[in-house]
Amino acid sequence: MTFNIAMYLQLAVNTPIYQTFEYKTPQNIVYSDRNLCGCRALVKFGNRKTIGVIVSTSDKQSYSGRGVIREVEEILDDTPVFDMYAIRLLSWASSYYHYPVGEVFYTALPPLLKKQNKAELKPIDLWSAIPGADTSSIKRAKACQSALEIIRQSPCTTHKLKELGISSAIINKLSGLNLITKTNLRDQVNEWTQEQLEVTGTKKLNEEQQAAYDTISSASGFNVFVINGVTGSGKTEIYLQLIADKLAEGKQALVLVPEINLTPQTVKRFYDRFNAPIVCIHSSMNDSERFESFVMMQRNEAAILIGTRSALFANIPNLGIIIIDEEHDSSYRQGDGFRYHARDCAVMLGYLRNIPVVMGTATPSIETVNNIRKNKYRELILTRRAGNATDAIFSIIDMRKQFIDHGISRELALHINEELAKGNQALLLLNRRGYSQKLICHNCGYVFMCTNCDSSLTYHKTENKLLCHHCESRYSIPHQCPQCGFTELTPTGNGTEQIFEHLMQLFPNARPVRVDRDSVSGKGTLNTLLDDINDNKYNIIIGTQMLAKGHHFPNVTLVGIVDIDSCLFSNNYRAHELLAQLIVQVAGRSGRGNKQGYVFLQTHSPEHPVLTTLLAGGYQAFTESCLNIRRQLMLPPFTSNAILKADSSSREKVITFISDAYAFMLRESQKFQSVKVMHPSSAYIARKQKRYHFNILINATGKKELSDFVDIIIANIDKFRDKSGVHAVIEIDPLSNE
Ligand code: ADP
Ligand code: ZN
Repeated sequence: MTFNIAMYLQLAVNTPIYQTFEYKTPQNIVYSDRNLCGCRALVKFGNRKTIGVIVSTSDKQSYSGRGVIREVEEILDDTPVFDMYAIRLLSWASSYYHYPVGEVFYTALPPLLKKQNKAELKPIDLWSAIPGADTSSIKRAKACQSALEIIRQSPCTTHKLKELGISSAIINKLSGLNLITKTNLRDQVNEWTQEQLEVTGTKKLNEEQQAAYDTISSASGFNVFVINGVTGSGKTEIYLQLIADKLAEGKQALVLVPEINLTPQTVKRFYDRFNAPIVCIHSSMNDSERFESFVMMQRNEAAILIGTRSALFANIPNLGIIIIDEEHDSSYRQGDGFRYHARDCAVMLGYLRNIPVVMGTATPSIETVNNIRKNKYRELILTRRAGNATDAIFSIIDMRKQFIDHGISRELALHINEELAKGNQALLLLNRRGYSQKLICHNCGYVFMCTNCDSSLTYHKTENKLLCHHCESRYSIPHQCPQCGFTELTPTGNGTEQIFEHLMQLFPNARPVRVDRDSVSGKGTLNTLLDDINDNKYNIIIGTQMLAKGHHFPNVTLVGIVDIDSCLFSNNYRAHELLAQLIVQVAGRSGRGNKQGYVFLQTHSPEHPVLTTLLAGGYQAFTESCLNIRRQLMLPPFTSNAILKADSSSREKVITFISDAYAFMLRESQKFQSVKVMHPSSAYIARKQKRYHFNILINATGKKELSDFVDIIIANIDKFRDKSGVHAVIEIDPLSNE
C-alpha cells in the first residue's frame, strides 16, 4: 500500500512575474519515485491555464502566506525537459538578465513543448537504397544521383539529408522511383556508445594547431579557450579533434554557430569525420524536427548537437565540451523577449558543468579580448592559413578625389576589371538592400516616409514598391509628390539592387549576382547561390552582410566595401568594433590557394583613426586602441550597462513614464557609489510601428551595483507605469547604447 503524500513543487510559471510559485502534486497520483525537477506541469494561474517548469521539489510546504496551495492540473513530461544544469543555468540567467524566471524557462523550451500537452514523437524516417534498383531514370538528374550516392554509403535520416542540402522533393522523387525505401528509426534507435565510434580523415595538426590542441586537452575541468585565427587557419580541425577525444570518452558535444554559418558544408565536415549520430537545431527547422533533435540528445541517441543560439538550452546528459564558433557574432544575442547572450550563457554552462568551453574567431570581440587580458580566458593564436594562401592586401580608395558613378569609384572599377580579366571573381559589399535609400521630390524636397515609423522608405525596383525596413510595410510607387504635386521624384542613395544594375552596364560581359534578403528567399536558395558562385557561374557578387560571414569563396581575389562611411560615424560606441570585424571578416572570404587577394575600402575619410590603425597594425592594433578608448571613456567592458526601454502608442504616456522613471532612478542612484543614470533620450528611430520609443541608459563600474540597482527599478517600475499604455523592459549588457 502506498501512502499518497503530496509533494510541494516550486514552479517557474510562464508569466511576467519575477518569482517561482508553489504548487502541489495532484492527490490521486503518486510521484514520489520520479524525478519531477525539469518536467513541465500544466497549472491554473489566476483563472487561466498555463505551463510551468518544476525547478525544485520538497515534501514540506514552504509557502506561508494566506492563500491555499493549488494542485497542478497535470505533469506533462515523463522525463525532465531540463536537467539540473539547465535549471541552474536558467535560474542564473533570470537573475543576471533580470527577466521573469517563468518566461526564461518558457523561452528555453523547444517550440513543441511550449504547447499545453504531452509531446509525441513522430516516426523518424530512415532512408536506405534498394539494392539492384534500376537507376536509368535519374541518369540526367545530377542532384538525385548525388543524393542516392550519399544514401548508398549509409542509410540516412530525412534530417541528415536536409542538413546536407538535399530537399524533400528529391527524397520523394527517389522514393517514388523505388530507388530508396524508409523504415522508422524510432523503432530501432539505441543509446549511442563510444564503442561504435569511428573517426575518419583526421589531419596531422601543424605546430600551432598542435600547441593549441595540447593546451586545451591537458587542462581539466572548466576553462575558457579562445582560438584566435583567421578563416582557414584550421580552427575547425582543432574543434573536430577535441570533440573526437570527448566522444571516445563517451561524452557528447555541443557546437554553437551563428545562424548563417550552419551550412551543409559545415555539417558535412562533422558527418564526414564521425560515424556518430549528429543532430542540428536552427531556425529553418520545423517544430517537430527541432523536437526530434532535442530528444535524441536528451536520450543520448545522438552524440553531437550543432545549433544556433537556442541549442544552448538542450538537455545533454553527457555534455563534455562546448564549442562557440565565431564568438564575436552578434547573432548570439537574442534581440527581443528574454535578451540573453548565448556566448556568455555558454560560458556559465561550462562553469556549472565543469567542462571546457572553446571559442574560435578571427576577430575576437572587445569583451573577449578584455577577458583574455584579465586571464579569465586563455588565448591560442593561429597565425598561418592552411595551404599556401597569403593574407590579403588592403587599400583605401579616397573617394574625395574620384569620379564616382552609382557609388563605384573609377579606381575600384579598374581593379574589378583587372581581376575579371584574369578569370577571378570580385565581391562587393554594401549593407543596404533595395534600389535607393530614399525617394525625394525634386521640387520641394519632400521625403517619402513610412506612416507607422519615423523612417524614410526604400525604393525596391524589382518589386516596384516602397518598403519600410523597420515594419516591412509596403507602399505603391507614388506618381506625384503629396506636398506640391510635382511629378519628378528622385531616388537617392544606392542600394544593392542599384549597384547590381550599374555593374551590368559597367561590365557588360560579366556575370553579376546579387545576394541579399530580397534575392535570397530561404536557406535552400542561399546554398544553391553559394554553390553556383563557387562553380564560377557568376564572377561579380554584390551583396549585404550575408556575404561577410562564414562562407568561403576560393576564386574571389577582390573584395570591395562600397561604403564604410556610414559605419564610421555612429552614436553607438560599438560601431567601430563592428566595422573592424566586418572589414577583417569580409577580407577573410577571399583568396584561397595561390592567388593574391585584395581588399578595397571606399571612404571619404581616409584619415579616420579606425582605418589607419587597422591598416597599419591589423585587427590586434585596432583592439588595443579600442580598449584604451573604452577604458578612458569608462565604457564597457570596463563598466557595465543596462538600458530601460519604454514604448507606447501614446507619446504623452511614454514621456510621462520615462520622466517619472528618470526622477526615481536619479534619486535611487544616490545610494550607489558608481551607478550613473543618463538623461532619457528618444530611440534612434523614435517612432516605430506606430509606437514611440524612449530609453534611459544606466552605467555602473561594478556588475553587482548595477544588478542591485536594477532590482530596485524592477520592484518599483509599476508604480509609475500606467499599465494600460506603456511597455517597458530592462536590457542588461545591451549591444548598443541607443
Ligand atoms: P577555420 O575553421 O579556421 O576556417 P579549417 O579548420 O576549416 O579552418 O581549415 C581550413 C582548411 O584547411 C580545411 O579544408 C581543413 O581541412 C584544412 N586543414 C586544417 N588543418 C589542417 C592540417 N593540419 N593539415 C592539413 N589540412 C588542414
Ligand atoms: Zn514602418
